[in-house]
Amino acid sequence: MPDSINIAENIQQIQQNIARAAEKYHRDKNSVQLLAVSKTRPAEMLRQAYQVGQRNFGENYLQEALQKIQALSDLSIVWHFIGAIQSNKTRDIAQHFSWVHSVDRLKIARRLSEQRGDGLAPLNICLQVNISEESSKAGFLLNELDGVIEEVRKLPHIKLRGLMAIPAQADSFEQQRQIFKPLREKLESFNQQGYGLDTLSMGMSNDMEAAIAEGATIVRIGTAIFGRRE
Ligand SMILES: *Cc1c(COP(=O)(O)O)cnc(C)c1O
Repeated sequence: MPDSINIAENIQQIQQNIARAAEKYHRDKNSVQLLAVSKTRPAEMLRQAYQVGQRNFGENYLQEALQKIQALSDLSIVWHFIGAIQSNKTRDIAQHFSWVHSVDRLKIARRLSEQRGDGLAPLNICLQVNISEESSKAGFLLNELDGVIEEVRKLPHIKLRGLMAIPAQADSFEQQRQIFKPLREKLESFNQQGYGLDTLSMGMSNDMEAAIAEGATIVRIGTAIFGRRE
């Protein structure tokens, strides 16, 4: 029942929850950014979110996203691609988004860099990590990252910002934290090697607080802003 959804109120509530969680885990509340995940939502709902200050939006499906990017081209939205990437779709992703969170193969990183080209600022990317090691899920395994990161950092038109994960469902807050923790540790270990990564994209409507406790810098929230998806 979209009519009963108050997007402005939901965003305000989530911002408060982010601030509260950040304080509880001794973090600056400004170190956690809210990415509004707007897949399947009509452009009008994104516009409502924008009117209360939301600037970062995440989309999963390219054709749908391109339509919204066009429909909302009068707004200064920062577009993030967070969905599965087919290699024949990389050109539009490289050209129309500022961020890609779901880079799950080296080949995709290479194509995005090549197709981003010289005309635009480097494309911000995260490497997607299959943190729960589910055979059904996309992403690098944690122990594959060492071999990949050097190659990715050489690519001229992308800027590696950090790591992203979509973990398996966990029942308790503590279990959720345990799942996120290795990702934080991996980022820290890369930074000890001087990589200067600043992004941990993790945490959704159901596990946002655990993600913030483990260092998330971007939380990707759909349902809690826009209501349940059909
Ligand atoms: C849909 C989606 C989200 C948002 O999930 P909610 O549970 O609706 O908050 C976050 N990240 C990714 C990659 C998604 O596909």
